[in-house]
Amino acid sequence: MDYTLTDEQRMLHDTVFKFTKNEWEPRTIEIDESDSFPWWLWERLRQLDWCGLLIPEEYGGSGMGVLDTAIMMEAAGHAGADTGSILAWGVHLTIGTIPIVLCGTEEQKAKYLPKIATGEYITCFCLTEPNIGSDAVNVQCSAVRKGDHYVLNGTKMFITNGPIADLAIVIAATDKSKGVRGVSAFIVEKNFPGFSVGKKLNKIGQRGSETSEIIFDNCMVPVENRLLNEGDGFTKVGAINLEYERSILSAGWTGMLGYNLDLATAYAHQRTQFGHPIVKYPQIREMLVRMKMNYDISKLLLYRAAWMKDQGLPAALEASLYKAFTAQACMQSAIDGMQVHGGYGLMQEYKIERSLRDAKLCSVGAGTDQVLYEIIARAITGTRSLTL
Ligand SMILES: Cc1cc2nc3c(=O)[nH]c(=O)nc-3n(C[C@H](O)[C@H](O)[C@H](O)COP(=O)(O)OP(=O)(O)OC[C@H]3O[C@@H](n4cnc5c(N)ncnc54)[C@H](O)[C@@H]3O)c2cc1C
Repeated sequence: MDYTLTDEQRMLHDTVFKFTKNEWEPRTIEIDESDSFPWWLWERLRQLDWCGLLIPEEYGGSGMGVLDTAIMMEAAGHAGADTGSILAWGVHLTIGTIPIVLCGTEEQKAKYLPKIATGEYITCFCLTEPNIGSDAVNVQCSAVRKGDHYVLNGTKMFITNGPIADLAIVIAATDKSKGVRGVSAFIVEKNFPGFSVGKKLNKIGQRGSETSEIIFDNCMVPVENRLLNEGDGFTKVGAINLEYERSILSAGWTGMLGYNLDLATAYAHQRTQFGHPIVKYPQIREMLVRMKMNYDISKLLLYRAAWMKDQGLPAALEASLYKAFTAQACMQSAIDGMQVHGGYGLMQEYKIERSLRDAKLCSVGAGTDQVLYEIIARAITGTRSLTL
């Protein structure tokens, strides 16, 4: 087993790390306070040609693999990018786009991917509804075929990039009597009649990503915008997306673990109490060790899941293990990192307090801890729980 990054991967990592340290990290407090998507950052990502990393080159993308993309997102987080902006970027790179890359027809790819690759179009993914979260297969939003269109009705909830997206991948029920096999996926443009954005939601963390409801009121979607066949919306399109969002979409959080460790280590060297730098005290050293363990284990689990996806191997279990571990690691790392900083850890300018607010979403989005634990328990025991 070879754990070394290739020269190209190291270069990718270093390029993103340097860019983030110079341009992104210095503006994270401003992004957090503005509670809005940083358009200046999007323009820079467009200039750098980083909006279509996973899109094949023939459609204007970079044609990169899953591991390479994960390395780039992790590098941004490690250099101190806010995980909100990374989430906005990541949703566009992965779950808002991958369904077209992997499930789209030639016409759909030719029509949409070049504009997504340049960042002219921003994408989002609409699965969750106000009353349907973990029980995602029980989609209530409906899509009824009328001639050469589907008519969509319903509301989607908590949609990352909702307020700024040009294009949405939408999961809706075409035949509720068929359960999971009656769910379909559609590419919906924001200009389609009947599409509207609900109120922007005010979140504790991830404030560089904008979140909202998306409302479909007799929204007219051409039949040619359906992805795959009727009934493939959850079993194929949704399943592909879940693996992506449980693996590389969380890479920014893994990077955050490295950033927290760097901040805490630097502070521990600089802060003196009782005549010695606090880095000399065993309790402080223990917290730093725990932060390092959390960072390294998360990175190894991330790279394993991403590598498996590049090999075309099913990685549902590995992606679940990675995200479930990382969710807990983020909370612990934030608490440890703040504790090392003492009172200053609660102050915005020390940049560690945001990690606690940003950590929480990792244990909720893309499958709560409880859902992921059940997936893992099923794999271990071969049995289902009574509740899930
Ligand atoms: C900031 C943010 C961004 C998001 N972005 C998107 C997005 O872009 N697109 C999208 O489609 N969705 C998005 N989501 C939605 C996210 O995926 C859901 O919040 C998540 O799946 C959980 O659903 P829920 O919030 O309805 O919680 P619920 O499913 O209502 O769960 C509530 C609690 O009950 C537990 N629970 C539920 N069922 C069981 C059971 N059977 N046994 C034991 N425990 C159970 C859960 O684990 C949780 O603790 C986002 C959410 C947030 C907060």
